Amino acid sequence: MRISQFPLYTLKEVPADAEIVSHQLMLRAGMIRKLTSGMYTWLPIGLRVLRKVENIIREEMDHAGALELLMPSVQPAELWQESKRWDQYGPELLRFKDRHERSFCYGPTHEEVITDLVRREIRSYKQLPINFYQIQTKFRDEIRPRFGIMRAREFIMKDAYSFHENHACLQETYAKMHQAYTNIFTRLGLQFRAVEADTGSIGGNASHEFHVLADSGEDAIAFSDQSDYAANVELAPVHFQPANVKQELKPIEKVATPKQKTIEEISQKLKVESAHCIKILLVKATDGEVIALAIRGDHELNPVKAEKIESIQSPLTFANDEEINSVTGCSAGFIGPINLNCRIIADHAAVNVQNFVCGANEIGFHFINANWERDVPTPEHFDLRKIQPGDPSPDGNGTIQVRRGIEVGHIFQLGDKYSRELNANVLDQDGREKILTMGCYGIGVTRVVAATIEQNYDDHGIAWPLPLAPFQVSLIPINLDKSSAVAEYCEELYLQLQHLGIEVLFDDRNARPGMMFADHELIGIPHRVVISDRGLKAGTVEYKSRSNDEVLHISLVKIKDYLRSAIISTE
Ligand code: ATP
Ligand code: MG
Repeated sequence: MRISQFPLYTLKEVPADAEIVSHQLMLRAGMIRKLTSGMYTWLPIGLRVLRKVENIIREEMDHAGALELLMPSVQPAELWQESKRWDQYGPELLRFKDRHERSFCYGPTHEEVITDLVRREIRSYKQLPINFYQIQTKFRDEIRPRFGIMRAREFIMKDAYSFHENHACLQETYAKMHQAYTNIFTRLGLQFRAVEADTGSIGGNASHEFHVLADSGEDAIAFSDQSDYAANVELAPVHFQPANVKQELKPIEKVATPKQKTIEEISQKLKVESAHCIKILLVKATDGEVIALAIRGDHELNPVKAEKIESIQSPLTFANDEEINSVTGCSAGFIGPINLNCRIIADHAAVNVQNFVCGANEIGFHFINANWERDVPTPEHFDLRKIQPGDPSPDGNGTIQVRRGIEVGHIFQLGDKYSRELNANVLDQDGREKILTMGCYGIGVTRVVAATIEQNYDDHGIAWPLPLAPFQVSLIPINLDKSSAVAEYCEELYLQLQHLGIEVLFDDRNARPGMMFADHELIGIPHRVVISDRGLKAGTVEYKSRSNDEVLHISLVKIKDYLRSAIISTE
Protein backbone atom coordinates (compact mmCIF):
# COMPACT_ATOMS: atom_id res chain seq x y z
CA MET A 1 0.00 0.00 0.00
CA ARG A 2 1.22 3.49 -0.81
CA ILE A 3 0.61 6.09 1.87
CA SER A 4 -0.53 8.48 -0.86
CA GLN A 5 -3.49 6.11 -1.25
CA PHE A 6 -3.69 4.92 2.34
CA PRO A 7 -3.49 8.03 4.52
CA LEU A 8 -2.30 7.71 8.11
CA TYR A 9 -4.14 9.71 10.74
CA THR A 10 -1.42 9.72 13.34
CA LEU A 11 -1.34 12.11 16.31
CA LYS A 12 1.77 13.46 18.04
CA GLU A 13 0.13 14.35 21.32
CA VAL A 14 -1.31 11.87 23.80
CA PRO A 15 -5.08 12.43 23.80
CA ALA A 16 -6.12 13.84 27.15
CA ASP A 17 -9.04 11.52 27.87
CA ALA A 18 -7.22 8.26 27.14
CA GLU A 19 -6.10 6.65 30.39
CA ILE A 20 -4.39 3.43 29.37
CA VAL A 21 -1.61 2.83 26.88
CA SER A 22 -3.62 0.83 24.36
CA HIS A 23 -6.32 3.50 24.18
CA GLN A 24 -3.72 6.25 23.74
CA LEU A 25 -1.80 4.36 21.10
CA MET A 26 -4.86 3.27 19.13
CA LEU A 27 -5.89 6.92 18.88
CA ARG A 28 -2.37 8.15 18.15
CA ALA A 29 -1.75 5.48 15.52
CA GLY A 30 -5.01 6.41 13.79
CA MET A 31 -6.58 2.99 14.36
CA ILE A 32 -9.82 4.20 15.92
CA ARG A 33 -11.83 7.36 16.45
CA LYS A 34 -14.55 7.91 19.01
CA LEU A 35 -18.06 8.53 17.74
CA THR A 36 -19.69 8.83 21.14
CA SER A 37 -19.34 7.19 24.56
CA GLY A 38 -18.26 3.55 24.11
CA MET A 39 -18.64 3.63 20.31
CA TYR A 40 -15.72 3.79 17.91
CA THR A 41 -15.03 3.89 14.19
CA TRP A 42 -12.26 1.57 13.02
CA LEU A 43 -10.07 3.41 10.54
CA PRO A 44 -8.41 1.42 7.72
CA ILE A 45 -5.19 0.68 9.57
CA GLY A 46 -7.06 -0.45 12.67
CA LEU A 47 -9.38 -2.57 10.61
CA ARG A 48 -6.44 -4.40 9.03
CA VAL A 49 -5.37 -5.52 12.53
CA LEU A 50 -8.91 -6.42 13.53
CA ARG A 51 -9.34 -8.56 10.40
CA LYS A 52 -6.14 -10.42 11.21
CA VAL A 53 -7.43 -11.24 14.68
CA GLU A 54 -10.72 -12.38 13.18
CA ASN A 55 -8.98 -14.59 10.64
CA ILE A 56 -6.86 -16.37 13.22
CA ILE A 57 -9.96 -16.96 15.34
CA ARG A 58 -11.91 -18.17 12.29
CA GLU A 59 -9.18 -20.59 11.23
CA GLU A 60 -8.92 -22.15 14.67
CA MET A 61 -12.69 -22.37 15.15
CA ASP A 62 -13.06 -24.03 11.75
CA HIS A 63 -10.19 -26.35 12.58
CA ALA A 64 -11.97 -27.35 15.81
CA GLY A 65 -15.06 -28.30 13.82
CA ALA A 66 -17.25 -25.28 14.55
CA LEU A 67 -19.49 -23.92 11.77
CA GLU A 68 -19.73 -20.24 10.99
CA LEU A 69 -23.13 -18.59 10.60
CA LEU A 70 -24.41 -15.06 11.05
CA MET A 71 -27.40 -14.10 13.14
CA PRO A 72 -29.19 -10.75 13.19
CA SER A 73 -27.92 -8.28 15.73
CA VAL A 74 -31.44 -7.00 16.45
CA GLN A 75 -33.49 -9.54 18.36
CA PRO A 76 -37.23 -9.75 19.14
CA ALA A 77 -38.29 -9.27 22.77
CA GLU A 78 -40.45 -12.42 22.68
CA LEU A 79 -37.41 -14.69 22.71
CA TRP A 80 -35.92 -12.84 25.65
CA GLN A 81 -39.24 -13.07 27.47
CA GLU A 82 -39.25 -16.80 26.86
CA SER A 83 -35.81 -17.18 28.45
CA LYS A 84 -36.92 -14.75 31.21
CA ARG A 85 -33.89 -12.55 30.50
CA TRP A 86 -36.01 -9.62 29.25
CA ASP A 87 -36.65 -8.86 32.93
CA GLN A 88 -33.37 -10.12 34.35
CA TYR A 89 -30.84 -8.44 32.08
CA GLY A 90 -31.32 -4.89 33.32
CA PRO A 91 -30.21 -1.61 31.73
CA GLU A 92 -27.23 -3.11 29.84
CA LEU A 93 -29.79 -4.39 27.34
CA LEU A 94 -30.55 -1.73 24.74
CA ARG A 95 -34.29 -1.97 24.01
CA PHE A 96 -36.38 -0.24 21.39
CA LYS A 97 -39.57 -0.56 19.34
CA ASP A 98 -40.21 -0.91 15.64
CA ARG A 99 -42.90 1.00 13.69
CA HIS A 100 -45.49 -1.61 14.76
CA GLU A 101 -44.72 -0.96 18.42
CA ARG A 102 -43.10 -4.38 18.78
CA SER A 103 -40.23 -4.54 21.28
CA PHE A 104 -36.70 -5.48 20.25
CA CYS A 105 -33.23 -5.38 21.70
CA TYR A 106 -29.78 -5.02 20.22
CA GLY A 107 -28.10 -8.35 20.98
CA PRO A 108 -25.56 -8.29 23.84
CA THR A 109 -25.19 -12.07 23.27
CA HIS A 110 -27.06 -14.70 21.24
CA GLU A 111 -28.12 -17.69 23.37
CA GLU A 112 -31.81 -17.09 22.68
CA VAL A 113 -31.48 -16.67 18.92
CA ILE A 114 -29.27 -19.72 18.42
CA THR A 115 -31.44 -21.89 20.69
CA ASP A 116 -34.49 -20.82 18.69
CA LEU A 117 -32.73 -21.80 15.47
CA VAL A 118 -31.63 -25.15 16.80
CA ARG A 119 -35.02 -26.09 18.24
CA ARG A 120 -36.51 -25.56 14.79
CA GLU A 121 -33.80 -27.22 12.71
CA ILE A 122 -32.48 -30.06 14.83
CA ARG A 123 -34.85 -32.89 15.64
CA SER A 124 -32.69 -35.96 16.20
CA TYR A 125 -29.72 -36.93 18.34
CA LYS A 126 -28.13 -38.02 15.05
CA GLN A 127 -27.64 -34.34 14.13
CA LEU A 128 -25.59 -33.77 17.29
CA PRO A 129 -23.21 -32.54 18.50
CA ILE A 130 -23.09 -29.28 16.62
CA ASN A 131 -21.16 -26.09 17.34
CA PHE A 132 -22.13 -22.84 15.58
CA TYR A 133 -20.19 -19.60 15.76
CA GLN A 134 -20.33 -16.08 14.42
CA ILE A 135 -18.14 -12.99 14.48
CA GLN A 136 -20.45 -10.09 15.00
CA THR A 137 -21.22 -6.74 16.55
CA LYS A 138 -22.71 -6.74 20.05
CA PHE A 139 -24.15 -3.89 22.05
CA ARG A 140 -24.08 -3.68 25.84
CA ASP A 141 -25.06 -0.42 27.44
CA GLU A 142 -22.16 -0.64 29.92
CA ILE A 143 -22.56 1.61 32.95
CA ARG A 144 -18.98 2.83 32.61
CA PRO A 145 -17.57 2.40 29.13
CA ARG A 146 -13.84 3.08 29.30
CA PHE A 147 -10.37 2.45 28.01
CA GLY A 148 -11.51 2.90 24.42
CA ILE A 149 -12.52 -0.34 22.79
CA MET A 150 -11.41 -2.33 25.85
CA ARG A 151 -14.76 -1.80 27.54
CA ALA A 152 -16.97 -0.37 24.84
CA ARG A 153 -20.71 -0.34 24.37
CA GLU A 154 -20.55 -1.53 20.78
CA PHE A 155 -17.89 -4.19 20.20
CA ILE A 156 -17.21 -7.28 18.13
CA MET A 157 -17.42 -10.70 19.66
CA LYS A 158 -16.82 -14.17 18.38
CA ASP A 159 -19.54 -16.20 20.02
CA ALA A 160 -20.03 -19.92 19.65
CA TYR A 161 -22.78 -22.19 20.96
CA SER A 162 -22.61 -25.97 21.06
CA PHE A 163 -25.51 -28.42 21.42
CA HIS A 164 -25.32 -31.94 22.78
CA GLU A 165 -27.36 -34.91 23.77
CA ASN A 166 -25.62 -35.25 27.12
CA HIS A 167 -23.08 -33.74 29.46
CA ALA A 168 -20.23 -36.06 28.50
CA CYS A 169 -20.49 -34.91 24.91
CA LEU A 170 -20.55 -31.26 26.04
CA GLN A 171 -17.36 -31.84 27.97
CA GLU A 172 -15.64 -33.16 24.87
CA THR A 173 -16.52 -30.07 22.87
CA TYR A 174 -15.63 -27.87 25.84
CA ALA A 175 -12.16 -29.42 25.93
CA LYS A 176 -11.82 -28.83 22.17
CA MET A 177 -12.79 -25.18 22.61
CA HIS A 178 -10.34 -24.83 25.49
CA GLN A 179 -7.64 -26.10 23.14
CA ALA A 180 -8.82 -23.89 20.26
CA TYR A 181 -8.64 -20.83 22.53
CA THR A 182 -5.16 -21.84 23.66
CA ASN A 183 -4.14 -22.11 19.99
CA ILE A 184 -5.70 -18.74 19.13
CA PHE A 185 -4.05 -16.76 21.92
CA THR A 186 -0.73 -18.51 21.31
CA ARG A 187 -0.86 -17.64 17.60
CA LEU A 188 -1.70 -14.05 18.52
CA GLY A 189 1.58 -14.01 20.42
CA LEU A 190 -0.05 -13.22 23.77
CA GLN A 191 1.01 -14.05 27.29
CA PHE A 192 -2.22 -15.44 28.70
CA ARG A 193 -3.71 -17.78 31.25
CA ALA A 194 -6.85 -19.93 31.25
CA VAL A 195 -8.43 -19.12 34.59
CA GLU A 196 -11.03 -21.14 36.48
CA ALA A 197 -14.01 -18.85 36.77
CA ASP A 198 -16.85 -18.61 39.25
CA THR A 199 -19.66 -20.74 37.94
CA GLY A 200 -22.22 -19.70 40.53
CA SER A 201 -24.84 -22.37 40.96
CA ILE A 202 -23.54 -24.63 38.18
CA GLY A 203 -20.38 -25.59 40.08
CA GLY A 204 -17.36 -27.66 39.07
CA ASN A 205 -14.88 -26.67 36.42
CA ALA A 206 -17.65 -25.57 34.15
CA SER A 207 -16.21 -22.21 33.16
CA HIS A 208 -12.86 -20.75 32.23
CA GLU A 209 -11.92 -17.19 31.45
CA PHE A 210 -8.90 -16.50 29.25
CA HIS A 211 -6.89 -13.57 30.55
CA VAL A 212 -4.11 -11.64 28.89
CA LEU A 213 -1.62 -10.65 31.60
CA ALA A 214 -1.19 -6.86 31.70
CA ASP A 215 -0.96 -4.25 34.44
CA SER A 216 -4.04 -2.40 33.20
CA GLY A 217 -6.23 -5.51 33.62
CA GLU A 218 -9.36 -5.27 35.75
CA ASP A 219 -8.93 -8.65 37.46
CA ALA A 220 -6.21 -10.02 39.72
CA ILE A 221 -5.11 -13.48 38.60
CA ALA A 222 -3.24 -15.97 40.79
CA PHE A 223 -1.23 -18.52 38.86
CA SER A 224 1.45 -21.10 39.45
CA ASP A 225 4.98 -20.53 38.22
CA GLN A 226 5.29 -24.24 37.48
CA SER A 227 1.94 -25.57 36.32
CA ASP A 228 -1.02 -24.26 34.33
CA TYR A 229 -3.00 -23.62 37.50
CA ALA A 230 -4.64 -20.18 37.39
CA ALA A 231 -7.65 -18.68 39.15
CA ASN A 232 -9.14 -15.34 39.94
CA VAL A 233 -7.55 -14.20 43.21
CA GLU A 234 -11.01 -14.09 44.77
CA LEU A 235 -11.55 -17.77 44.03
CA ALA A 236 -8.15 -19.42 44.51
CA PRO A 237 -8.31 -21.71 47.55
CA VAL A 238 -5.58 -21.73 50.19
CA HIS A 239 -5.35 -25.20 51.68
CA PHE A 240 -4.61 -25.93 55.33
CA GLN A 241 -1.00 -26.76 56.04
CA PRO A 242 -0.26 -28.06 59.51
CA ALA A 243 2.50 -26.10 61.29
CA ASN A 244 5.75 -28.00 61.12
CA VAL A 245 7.75 -26.18 63.79
CA LYS A 246 6.55 -26.14 67.35
CA GLN A 247 7.97 -23.25 69.33
CA GLU A 248 8.49 -23.02 73.04
CA LEU A 249 5.52 -21.19 74.52
CA LYS A 250 6.54 -17.95 76.20
CA PRO A 251 4.65 -16.34 79.10
CA ILE A 252 1.84 -14.08 77.97
CA GLU A 253 2.22 -10.38 78.81
CA LYS A 254 0.00 -7.36 78.49
CA VAL A 255 1.81 -4.33 77.04
CA ALA A 256 0.78 -0.72 76.63
CA THR A 257 0.12 0.37 73.04
CA PRO A 258 -1.51 3.72 73.66
CA LYS A 259 -1.63 4.97 70.09
CA GLN A 260 -0.97 1.85 68.04
CA LYS A 261 -4.03 0.40 66.38
CA THR A 262 -3.11 -0.98 62.97
CA ILE A 263 -1.06 -4.13 62.43
CA GLU A 264 1.66 -1.98 60.89
CA GLU A 265 1.85 0.35 63.90
CA ILE A 266 1.77 -2.55 66.34
CA SER A 267 4.45 -4.56 64.56
CA GLN A 268 6.69 -1.49 64.43
CA LYS A 269 6.21 -0.58 68.06
CA LEU A 270 6.63 -4.14 69.39
CA LYS A 271 9.25 -5.10 66.79
CA VAL A 272 7.44 -8.22 65.65
CA GLU A 273 6.64 -9.28 62.12
CA SER A 274 3.04 -8.82 61.07
CA ALA A 275 2.92 -12.58 60.44
CA HIS A 276 3.17 -12.96 64.23
CA CYS A 277 0.13 -10.80 64.86
CA ILE A 278 -3.48 -11.94 64.87
CA LYS A 279 -6.12 -9.47 63.77
CA ILE A 280 -9.81 -9.82 64.50
CA LEU A 281 -12.59 -8.67 62.20
CA LEU A 282 -16.10 -8.67 63.60
CA VAL A 283 -18.87 -9.59 61.17
CA LYS A 284 -22.58 -10.32 61.40
CA ALA A 285 -23.78 -13.89 61.72
CA THR A 286 -26.91 -15.23 60.03
CA ASP A 287 -28.64 -15.36 63.46
CA GLY A 288 -27.99 -11.63 64.02
CA GLU A 289 -25.13 -12.25 66.51
CA VAL A 290 -21.52 -11.20 65.92
CA ILE A 291 -18.77 -13.58 64.77
CA ALA A 292 -15.04 -12.80 65.15
CA LEU A 293 -12.83 -13.70 62.20
CA ALA A 294 -9.20 -14.29 63.19
CA ILE A 295 -6.65 -13.65 60.41
CA ARG A 296 -2.86 -13.55 60.44
CA GLY A 297 -1.60 -9.95 60.43
CA ASP A 298 0.05 -10.17 57.01
CA HIS A 299 -2.98 -11.80 55.38
CA GLU A 300 -6.04 -10.23 53.82
CA LEU A 301 -9.61 -11.36 54.41
CA ASN A 302 -11.35 -12.66 51.29
CA PRO A 303 -14.99 -11.63 51.69
CA VAL A 304 -16.10 -14.03 48.93
CA LYS A 305 -14.80 -16.96 50.97
CA ALA A 306 -16.09 -15.65 54.31
CA GLU A 307 -19.65 -15.18 53.12
CA LYS A 308 -19.74 -18.74 51.80
CA ILE A 309 -19.53 -20.01 55.41
CA GLU A 310 -23.01 -20.97 56.47
CA SER A 311 -23.22 -19.09 59.76
CA ILE A 312 -21.87 -15.83 58.27
CA GLN A 313 -24.21 -13.29 56.72
CA SER A 314 -24.02 -12.87 52.96
CA PRO A 315 -23.20 -10.30 51.69
CA LEU A 316 -20.51 -9.94 54.33
CA THR A 317 -21.50 -7.25 56.82
CA PHE A 318 -19.12 -5.79 59.39
CA ALA A 319 -20.31 -5.16 62.96
CA ASN A 320 -21.01 -1.53 63.86
CA ASP A 321 -19.34 0.35 66.73
CA GLU A 322 -22.11 -0.49 69.16
CA GLU A 323 -21.95 -4.21 68.40
CA ILE A 324 -18.15 -4.13 68.64
CA ASN A 325 -18.38 -2.54 72.04
CA SER A 326 -20.91 -5.05 73.32
CA VAL A 327 -18.76 -8.12 72.52
CA THR A 328 -15.31 -6.68 73.25
CA GLY A 329 -15.91 -3.95 75.78
CA CYS A 330 -13.56 -1.78 73.73
CA SER A 331 -13.18 -0.38 70.24
CA ALA A 332 -11.58 -1.38 66.94
CA GLY A 333 -7.77 -1.44 67.06
CA PHE A 334 -7.46 -3.28 70.37
CA ILE A 335 -9.56 -6.37 69.73
CA GLY A 336 -8.12 -9.84 70.28
CA PRO A 337 -9.39 -13.40 70.62
CA ILE A 338 -8.78 -13.73 74.38
CA ASN A 339 -11.84 -13.13 76.57
CA LEU A 340 -13.94 -12.28 73.58
CA ASN A 341 -17.61 -12.62 74.11
CA CYS A 342 -18.53 -14.25 70.79
CA ARG A 343 -17.85 -17.16 68.50
CA ILE A 344 -14.45 -17.14 66.77
CA ILE A 345 -13.78 -18.51 63.29
CA ALA A 346 -10.15 -18.48 62.21
CA ASP A 347 -8.35 -18.69 58.93
CA HIS A 348 -6.28 -21.87 58.50
CA ALA A 349 -3.00 -19.97 58.78
CA ALA A 350 -4.05 -18.08 61.93
CA VAL A 351 -4.26 -21.22 64.08
CA ASN A 352 -0.64 -22.08 63.28
CA VAL A 353 0.78 -18.91 64.83
CA GLN A 354 2.41 -19.28 68.23
CA ASN A 355 3.52 -16.60 70.68
CA PHE A 356 1.43 -14.07 68.81
CA VAL A 357 0.55 -10.44 69.35
CA CYS A 358 -3.14 -9.54 69.58
CA GLY A 359 -5.42 -6.91 71.03
CA ALA A 360 -6.20 -7.21 74.75
CA ASN A 361 -9.81 -6.04 74.38
CA GLU A 362 -8.82 -3.02 76.44
CA ILE A 363 -8.21 0.39 74.96
CA GLY A 364 -4.45 1.09 74.76
CA PHE A 365 -3.28 -2.51 75.34
CA HIS A 366 -2.13 -5.58 73.41
CA PHE A 367 -0.94 -9.02 74.48
CA ILE A 368 2.40 -10.43 73.43
CA ASN A 369 3.19 -14.15 73.41
CA ALA A 370 -0.45 -15.18 73.36
CA ASN A 371 -1.12 -18.79 72.37
CA TRP A 372 -4.07 -20.81 71.19
CA GLU A 373 -5.24 -23.56 73.53
CA ARG A 374 -3.25 -22.24 76.53
CA ASP A 375 -4.84 -18.74 76.52
CA VAL A 376 -7.94 -19.26 74.39
CA PRO A 377 -9.40 -22.44 72.87
CA THR A 378 -8.17 -23.09 69.33
CA PRO A 379 -11.05 -21.94 67.12
CA GLU A 380 -12.54 -23.83 64.20
CA HIS A 381 -10.70 -22.82 61.05
CA PHE A 382 -11.57 -22.35 57.38
CA ASP A 383 -10.07 -20.91 54.24
CA LEU A 384 -10.83 -17.21 54.76
CA ARG A 385 -8.00 -15.29 53.18
CA LYS A 386 -6.85 -14.09 49.79
CA ILE A 387 -4.09 -16.11 48.21
CA GLN A 388 -0.81 -14.14 48.03
CA PRO A 389 2.34 -14.22 45.91
CA GLY A 390 4.68 -16.80 47.39
CA ASP A 391 1.90 -19.10 48.65
CA PRO A 392 2.14 -22.69 47.43
CA SER A 393 -0.02 -23.32 44.35
CA PRO A 394 -3.31 -25.02 45.33
CA ASP A 395 -2.62 -27.82 42.82
CA GLY A 396 0.56 -28.71 44.72
CA ASN A 397 2.88 -27.64 41.89
CA GLY A 398 4.95 -24.51 42.23
CA THR A 399 4.48 -21.14 43.84
CA ILE A 400 1.75 -18.56 43.30
CA GLN A 401 2.35 -15.34 41.41
CA VAL A 402 -0.27 -12.63 41.12
CA ARG A 403 -0.67 -10.46 38.02
CA ARG A 404 -3.48 -8.41 36.59
CA GLY A 405 -5.45 -9.84 33.69
CA ILE A 406 -7.67 -8.63 30.86
CA GLU A 407 -10.50 -11.04 30.11
CA VAL A 408 -10.38 -11.74 26.39
CA GLY A 409 -12.35 -14.97 26.30
CA HIS A 410 -14.85 -16.96 28.30
CA ILE A 411 -15.98 -20.55 27.83
CA PHE A 412 -18.93 -21.90 29.71
CA GLN A 413 -20.80 -25.17 30.16
CA LEU A 414 -24.34 -23.87 30.19
CA GLY A 415 -26.12 -27.19 30.67
CA ASP A 416 -29.85 -26.84 29.95
CA LYS A 417 -30.37 -23.27 31.23
CA TYR A 418 -31.60 -21.93 27.87
CA SER A 419 -32.75 -25.12 26.19
CA ARG A 420 -35.12 -25.83 29.07
CA GLU A 421 -36.68 -22.35 29.05
CA LEU A 422 -37.00 -22.39 25.28
CA ASN A 423 -38.04 -26.01 25.16
CA ALA A 424 -35.29 -27.09 22.77
CA ASN A 425 -35.52 -30.88 22.53
CA VAL A 426 -34.34 -33.68 20.30
CA LEU A 427 -35.46 -37.27 19.98
CA ASP A 428 -32.96 -39.63 21.55
CA GLN A 429 -32.06 -43.17 20.44
CA ASP A 430 -35.23 -44.55 22.02
CA GLY A 431 -37.44 -41.95 20.39
CA ARG A 432 -37.90 -39.97 23.60
CA GLU A 433 -37.81 -36.17 23.80
CA LYS A 434 -34.65 -34.99 25.49
CA ILE A 435 -33.65 -31.46 26.49
CA LEU A 436 -30.49 -30.29 24.76
CA THR A 437 -27.29 -29.63 26.70
CA MET A 438 -25.43 -26.46 25.70
CA GLY A 439 -22.05 -24.78 25.90
CA CYS A 440 -21.11 -21.23 24.92
CA TYR A 441 -17.74 -19.76 24.02
CA GLY A 442 -16.96 -16.04 23.59
CA ILE A 443 -13.93 -14.02 22.53
CA GLY A 444 -13.85 -10.23 22.68
CA VAL A 445 -12.37 -9.73 19.21
CA THR A 446 -12.02 -5.96 19.45
CA ARG A 447 -10.76 -6.22 23.03
CA VAL A 448 -8.04 -8.63 21.88
CA VAL A 449 -6.58 -5.83 19.74
CA ALA A 450 -6.29 -3.50 22.74
CA ALA A 451 -5.01 -6.28 25.01
CA THR A 452 -2.28 -7.11 22.50
CA ILE A 453 -1.10 -3.50 22.54
CA GLU A 454 -1.00 -3.57 26.36
CA GLN A 455 1.63 -6.30 26.01
CA ASN A 456 3.50 -4.92 23.00
CA TYR A 457 4.56 -1.29 23.11
CA ASP A 458 7.50 0.97 23.93
CA ASP A 459 8.19 4.72 24.11
CA HIS A 460 7.88 5.02 20.34
CA GLY A 461 4.52 3.33 19.97
CA ILE A 462 3.03 -0.05 19.23
CA ALA A 463 5.29 -3.04 18.48
CA TRP A 464 2.94 -5.52 16.80
CA PRO A 465 3.60 -9.23 16.89
CA LEU A 466 3.99 -10.10 13.20
CA PRO A 467 0.69 -12.05 12.88
CA LEU A 468 -1.29 -8.93 13.82
CA ALA A 469 0.77 -6.18 12.23
CA PRO A 470 -1.24 -4.01 9.83
CA PHE A 471 1.72 -4.24 7.43
CA GLN A 472 4.77 -6.45 7.69
CA VAL A 473 7.37 -4.14 6.11
CA SER A 474 7.80 -0.36 5.95
CA LEU A 475 9.51 0.86 2.82
CA ILE A 476 10.93 4.31 3.44
CA PRO A 477 12.75 6.27 0.74
CA ILE A 478 15.00 9.23 1.55
CA ASN A 479 14.68 12.11 -0.94
CA LEU A 480 12.18 10.36 -3.14
CA ASP A 481 11.51 13.51 -5.15
CA LYS A 482 15.16 14.33 -5.74
CA SER A 483 16.67 10.97 -6.59
CA SER A 484 15.43 8.99 -9.56
CA ALA A 485 17.64 6.07 -8.48
CA VAL A 486 15.84 5.92 -5.11
CA ALA A 487 12.44 6.24 -6.77
CA GLU A 488 13.15 3.50 -9.31
CA TYR A 489 14.61 1.08 -6.78
CA CYS A 490 11.71 1.63 -4.37
CA GLU A 491 9.13 0.99 -7.07
CA GLU A 492 10.90 -2.19 -8.05
CA LEU A 493 11.34 -3.49 -4.50
CA TYR A 494 7.76 -2.57 -3.64
CA LEU A 495 6.42 -4.64 -6.54
CA GLN A 496 8.75 -7.55 -5.87
CA LEU A 497 7.87 -7.75 -2.18
CA GLN A 498 4.19 -7.60 -3.00
CA HIS A 499 4.71 -10.35 -5.50
CA LEU A 500 6.12 -12.47 -2.67
CA GLY A 501 2.91 -11.88 -0.71
CA ILE A 502 4.62 -9.53 1.75
CA GLU A 503 2.46 -6.68 3.03
CA VAL A 504 4.40 -3.47 2.45
CA LEU A 505 3.58 0.08 3.44
CA PHE A 506 5.45 2.30 0.99
CA ASP A 507 5.94 5.80 2.36
CA ASP A 508 5.74 7.83 -0.83
CA ARG A 509 4.87 11.07 0.97
CA ASN A 510 8.20 12.73 0.42
CA ALA A 511 8.27 13.70 4.07
CA ARG A 512 11.19 14.33 6.40
CA PRO A 513 12.89 11.03 7.40
CA GLY A 514 12.39 11.71 11.14
CA MET A 515 8.69 12.15 10.66
CA MET A 516 8.36 9.02 8.55
CA PHE A 517 10.35 6.94 11.05
CA ALA A 518 8.21 8.22 13.92
CA ASP A 519 4.97 7.37 12.13
CA HIS A 520 6.04 3.86 11.19
CA GLU A 521 7.29 3.16 14.71
CA LEU A 522 4.08 4.51 16.20
CA ILE A 523 1.89 2.26 14.08
CA GLY A 524 4.19 -0.61 14.98
CA ILE A 525 5.33 -2.19 11.70
CA PRO A 526 7.77 -5.02 12.52
CA HIS A 527 10.34 -4.55 9.71
CA ARG A 528 11.70 -1.31 8.24
CA VAL A 529 13.73 -0.86 5.08
CA VAL A 530 15.23 2.55 4.27
CA ILE A 531 16.41 3.36 0.75
CA SER A 532 18.83 6.22 0.16
CA ASP A 533 21.19 7.35 -2.55
CA ARG A 534 24.13 6.73 -0.29
CA GLY A 535 23.00 3.19 0.38
CA LEU A 536 22.31 2.47 -3.24
CA LYS A 537 25.78 3.63 -4.16
CA ALA A 538 27.22 1.23 -1.60
CA GLY A 539 24.91 -1.51 -2.89
CA THR A 540 22.90 -1.74 0.35
CA VAL A 541 19.66 -0.83 2.06
CA GLU A 542 19.21 -0.08 5.73
CA TYR A 543 17.20 -2.61 7.69
CA LYS A 544 15.84 -2.27 11.22
CA SER A 545 13.54 -4.51 13.21
CA ARG A 546 10.88 -2.78 15.36
CA SER A 547 11.98 -4.91 18.29
CA ASN A 548 15.60 -3.75 18.52
CA ASP A 549 17.69 -0.69 17.81
CA GLU A 550 20.37 -2.22 15.64
CA VAL A 551 20.50 -0.92 12.06
CA LEU A 552 21.84 -3.41 9.51
CA HIS A 553 23.16 -2.68 6.04
CA ILE A 554 21.97 -5.46 3.81
CA SER A 555 23.03 -5.88 0.23
CA LEU A 556 20.54 -5.13 -2.50
CA VAL A 557 20.69 -8.69 -3.75
CA LYS A 558 19.92 -10.18 -0.34
CA ILE A 559 17.22 -7.92 1.03
CA LYS A 560 14.25 -9.77 -0.50
CA ASP A 561 15.35 -13.12 0.87
CA TYR A 562 16.22 -11.54 4.17
CA LEU A 563 12.72 -10.13 4.57
CA ARG A 564 11.07 -13.25 3.29
CA SER A 565 12.83 -15.45 5.80
CA ALA A 566 12.31 -12.95 8.65
CA ILE A 567 8.58 -13.04 7.91
CA ILE A 568 8.20 -16.73 7.23
CA SER A 569 10.30 -17.82 10.22
CA THR A 570 8.07 -15.94 12.65
CA GLU A 571 4.76 -16.68 10.93
P1 ATP B 1 -16.65 -8.47 31.46
O1 ATP B 1 -16.55 -9.18 32.76
O2 ATP B 1 -15.34 -7.92 30.96
O3 ATP B 1 -17.76 -7.47 31.40
P2 ATP B 1 -18.36 -10.49 30.45
O4 ATP B 1 -18.17 -11.55 31.47
O5 ATP B 1 -19.54 -9.62 30.50
O6 ATP B 1 -17.03 -9.57 30.41
P3 ATP B 1 -18.93 -12.32 28.27
O7 ATP B 1 -20.39 -12.10 28.35
O8 ATP B 1 -18.37 -13.61 28.70
O9 ATP B 1 -18.17 -11.12 29.01
O10 ATP B 1 -18.44 -11.94 26.79
C1 ATP B 1 -17.41 -12.62 26.11
C2 ATP B 1 -16.22 -11.72 25.86
O11 ATP B 1 -16.60 -10.48 25.26
C3 ATP B 1 -15.48 -11.29 27.12
O12 ATP B 1 -14.57 -12.29 27.51
C4 ATP B 1 -14.78 -10.02 26.68
O13 ATP B 1 -13.54 -10.33 26.07
C5 ATP B 1 -15.71 -9.45 25.63
N1 ATP B 1 -16.46 -8.30 26.17
C6 ATP B 1 -17.46 -8.32 27.07
N2 ATP B 1 -17.92 -7.09 27.32
C7 ATP B 1 -17.19 -6.25 26.55
C8 ATP B 1 -17.18 -4.83 26.35
N3 ATP B 1 -18.02 -4.04 26.99
N4 ATP B 1 -16.29 -4.30 25.47
C9 ATP B 1 -15.43 -5.11 24.80
N5 ATP B 1 -15.40 -6.44 24.94
C10 ATP B 1 -16.25 -7.01 25.80
MG1 MG C 1 -19.70 -7.58 31.15
